[in-house]
Amino acid sequence: MRVKVLGSAAGGGFPQWNCACRNCSRLRDGTLRGRARTQVQLAVSPDGSAWFLLNASPDLRQQLAAHSEFAPKGASRSTPISAILLTSADVDCVMGLLHLREFQPLRIYSTLAVRRILTEDNSLFRTLARSNPPSRWEVLPLDRLIPLAAQGPAGAKVNLFCKAVPLNGSFPDYVSDHLRSSLPEEEAVIGLQLVQGEKRFFYAPSLPGRGEDWKRRISESHLALLDGTFWTDDELIKIKSSGKTARQMGHLPLSGVSGLLGQLQSAHQTRCVLIHLNNTNPILDEESAEHRALLAAGREIAFDGMELEL
Ligand SMILES: [Zn+2]
Repeated sequence: MRVKVLGSAAGGGFPQWNCACRNCSRLRDGTLRGRARTQVQLAVSPDGSAWFLLNASPDLRQQLAAHSEFAPKGASRSTPISAILLTSADVDCVMGLLHLREFQPLRIYSTLAVRRILTEDNSLFRTLARSNPPSRWEVLPLDRLIPLAAQGPAGAKVNLFCKAVPLNGSFPDYVSDHLRSSLPEEEAVIGLQLVQGEKRFFYAPSLPGRGEDWKRRISESHLALLDGTFWTDDELIKIKSSGKTARQMGHLPLSGVSGLLGQLQSAHQTRCVLIHLNNTNPILDEESAEHRALLAAGREIAFDGMELEL
């Protein structure tokens, strides 16, 4: 299984266009040792030719154009992308679907709740139905391993299986109260466990850290790409003087007694890479104590263009 990191930053990217925090300002003026990052996007392939996109970033068009694997081959209109798998209806997970609408029939996997938010509450996404045949939505059932389908209406099975792991998160603020009242909350935010033969990969760019199941999924996986949004719980409050804590936003912070790094200690055999990095996170500064502490804990930090194989 090949995993390509096309984007590694949280919403807004790094630097964020309207942010003058210490990290963003220093990256702009060239005094920060670190990399610019586009908004988080992964692509996974079981064989190096068929690709599955994990979520659809607002930066998706430029991310696909930057890598030759995703160029059309053969027919005048074609794509090596078999399907898109969504982990939530967050704007940063779904905006890129609109970049894929160029009359290309797509297969989109999501929980039923996420599909209903996009297709019933947001008429803009009906543009995906204008291809012939129209884009096809597939339900990701919770806690059940299903085979993923190859491109095309026949949907032949590929050697890649997926399990949706409920993470006890919340629906995005933009969802109408009317629709929200009819949606099961456990379908709001999922992690994806991808399985090929003996190899297991777990992806959770938003990890609220509630319950215990997510830790089991990480421990039993060879590779995990996990929520590295914030270093501390009050990171945004300190910078903006108001707002929500990391936990209130559905992100377990990395540091602290019950932070993600501490909770990962039991998963010492799993290669863990932090992704979905907010521009305020001190680990983006490669000369910071936090950056060094994370590497010393045996964990890695994702960057745009990172390639992983398992
Ligand atoms: Zn910033």
